[in-house]
Amino acid sequence: MGVRGAYSVEKTVFRETRYEAMARNKGICVICGKGGKLSLEHVPPQCAGNDKYVEINTFADWQAAGEKWEAMKGARPQAEGIGYITICEACNRYSGAHYVPSFCKTIDAGIQILRQLPVLEFDGDPELKAVEFEVKAMRPLPFVKEVIAMILAMNGEVDANFRTDNPDLVGFVLDKDARGLPNKYHLYLSLFFGPALRFAPTMAAVIEGRRLVLTAIDYPPFSYVVTIGTPADHLPVGDITSLTQCAYEDQRDVRLALTCGFGHTPFPLDYRSSARVDLDERAGRRSIAVPVKGVNSSGVIVE
Ligand SMILES: [Zn+2]
Repeated sequence: MGVRGAYSVEKTVFRETRYEAMARNKGICVICGKGGKLSLEHVPPQCAGNDKYVEINTFADWQAAGEKWEAMKGARPQAEGIGYITICEACNRYSGAHYVPSFCKTIDAGIQILRQLPVLEFDGDPELKAVEFEVKAMRPLPFVKEVIAMILAMNGEVDANFRTDNPDLVGFVLDKDARGLPNKYHLYLSLFFGPALRFAPTMAAVIEGRRLVLTAIDYPPFSYVVTIGTPADHLPVGDITSLTQCAYEDQRDVRLALTCGFGHTPFPLDYRSSARVDLDERAGRRSIAVPVKGVNSSGVIVE
């Protein structure tokens, strides 16, 4: 198994959710909190290429297969990409009008960067790479608002309290002009190559010796990670939280220095190349301590 080209992903998706929820189309909107008809929100939006057939596996499938992809069983096919039925039509329209167009422009820029990178070479090198580039005429605020909307849509499926436990995230998405997030939230962006796509609702993990509460969506060209509480500033990941301070209308050339991440395991923030995964495996080393316990959306560990 490997990355097949400069920009191609395998169809395996790690998604920790209750699949039966997909059948539901009435409920409480995870953004505005109103009850009613819910509509399918693609996460990420279709402009990221999220409109294709994928097969979904869970972390448990991977463990049951002895941590070997090729041995995984129980893949659940999903014909039209990844989505969540947790947002009402009005909120879907609002983000579609105010956030998605700017988000998609930055996605395009990210895809262009990915296409220029020697992905196979990076995957054969144990060293983590970072790339510096400029996104021309970026509108930072709508971009980060769409990221938070995606995080809400995903977490709302597994945790009905996520919106009430995180009112500041909700308020940030509800009003296009709202700026800034409380200190307990940090938003990280990396370039992401796949091959797996990863969808991780809020969880706790010990990563490089520090316990983090995080939620993440990894879908090329980017990996989006939100930490709640302890930040991930001990890891080589780009903190873009300051972009939440921009005004809605702000448009400027934004210079980003981002880690280049692979998805060879289901763990969020595990960006190791194939070469590094192999080396670590032979040395019996794990950079990610697995005891991933349940956490509620306030970041409290549920023992
Ligand atoms: Zn709504």
